[in-house]
Amino acid sequence: MAEFDVIIIGGGPGGYVCAIRCAQLGLKTAVVEGRDALGGTCLNVGCIPSKALLNATHQLHEVHENFEKMGLMGAHPTVDWAKMQAYKQDVITGNTKGIEFLFKKNKVTWLKGWGTIPAAGQVQVGDEVHTAKNIVIATGSEPSSLPGVTVDEEVVVTSTGALALAAIPKSMVVIGAGVIGLEMGSVYARLGAEVTVVEYLDAITPGMDAEVAKTFQKILAKQGLKFILGAAVQGTERTGAGAKVAYKLRKDDSAHEIEADVVLVATGRKPYVAGLGLEALGVEMEPRGQVKTDGHFGTNIKGLYAIGDAIVGPMLAHKAEDEGMALAEILAGKAGHVNYGVIPGVVYTTPEVATVGKTEEQLKAEGRAYKVGKFSFMGNGRAKAVFQADGFVKMLADKETDRILGCHIIGPGAGDLIHEVCVAMEFGASAQDLALTCHAHPTYSEAVREAALACGDGAIHA
Ligand code: FAD
Repeated sequence: MAEFDVIIIGGGPGGYVCAIRCAQLGLKTAVVEGRDALGGTCLNVGCIPSKALLNATHQLHEVHENFEKMGLMGAHPTVDWAKMQAYKQDVITGNTKGIEFLFKKNKVTWLKGWGTIPAAGQVQVGDEVHTAKNIVIATGSEPSSLPGVTVDEEVVVTSTGALALAAIPKSMVVIGAGVIGLEMGSVYARLGAEVTVVEYLDAITPGMDAEVAKTFQKILAKQGLKFILGAAVQGTERTGAGAKVAYKLRKDDSAHEIEADVVLVATGRKPYVAGLGLEALGVEMEPRGQVKTDGHFGTNIKGLYAIGDAIVGPMLAHKAEDEGMALAEILAGKAGHVNYGVIPGVVYTTPEVATVGKTEEQLKAEGRAYKVGKFSFMGNGRAKAVFQADGFVKMLADKETDRILGCHIIGPGAGDLIHEVCVAMEFGASAQDLALTCHAHPTYSEAVREAALACGDGAIHA
């Protein structure tokens, strides 16, 4: 048994960042993690492995689609799936070992095993009961499924199975046109699979600015992804070769089936708090299964906190990290804060899609007077040079004050470009502030500046 200032249950982006900051602020800190590696969903079966496969298959796509256009001739590479999987695993291991190193450097104790909270102020791992002034639930989330859909992680898989398929399928049905479904669908489409995305709503990427979502769908369709929208999946059934997905079109209730080698269920994720003992402790929960918190990450039990995917909010690694950092500051007696109005969201397909702040639909619903500055990557020399001129930057600013309210980008490097706007929004900048800032030429960033210019007197290269 040991005594700590803080014990964090879960070593994902929320938990490990919280732990490192707690230790840096002088608190005696431990993290309980049941997996063999630190880093949580994100490093082991989420952000990092998916980006490794997106990178590998993006390179493959470049070779096949664009190399000859640039005068790069010669044999096209073939795919060694086992080697690609090994590369993915190397990337995971490099990152998870990095967190282990940071724990040692910052003197964070890793309590290996699955934790429970037998009583307030206590965490049990195996037979050992440890005490802590503060306990943080950072246990993350797990994939959710649909009634009638039985996941076996071989043929009917979640993202976890999709990251480690035994072989590249010839066909794949993706249930759910959210970020994870589209990223994994893109990976397998680039590897030659016929990918069909079945989505309940009438548009892909629910919640995204509608104009961006529409363009995104068109671009993905050009890349070979097929879409069946407005389709309510009724269930899956294993067949000899793969699995069948039964669905009903919502417009006329007609029943249909589609068969594929692999079915990826990408219908979202739900908080994972099983086995912690929260019910016995009397911890208040949200109707959708998240731990209820008070705005400063505190639960209704004194000294018990929660962050990341286990609480309300976008299920994103950087949201979890920011909450971890803010909570550490609070536990050390400082002011910790997360600005939920400026949390970017990125889809790492090609092109990337990135978004921050309000969508046009949200502004309309709020009845807010706004202006739109749009700039197409067709007017961006750098984007043209790399065959990625499909897409645009859309800046939304307050009609009166010119303050930036949101930005939505589909195009090359969107996931990095968005941060210029995030910083501007944090500083309460106007579109003109961005427009008057010198941007290096030729960069994709010029498109952000041009969109800001378009909020005022007009873009130059439009
Ligand atoms: P998690 O990362 O889920 O970590 C929780 C950890 O707690 C786990 O390691 C678990 O083993 C451990 N744990 C749970 N219960 C216990 C217990 N009782 N005792 C001990 N340990 C326990 N987000 C992005 O921002 N960008 C992306 O590109 C992105 N891509 C993704 C791709 C995929 C395929 C998936 C599935 C997710 C992706 N996400 C992405 C989401 C991101 O992974 C999560 O939002 C993030 O990991 C949440 O962090 P967390 O710390 O709250 O929880």
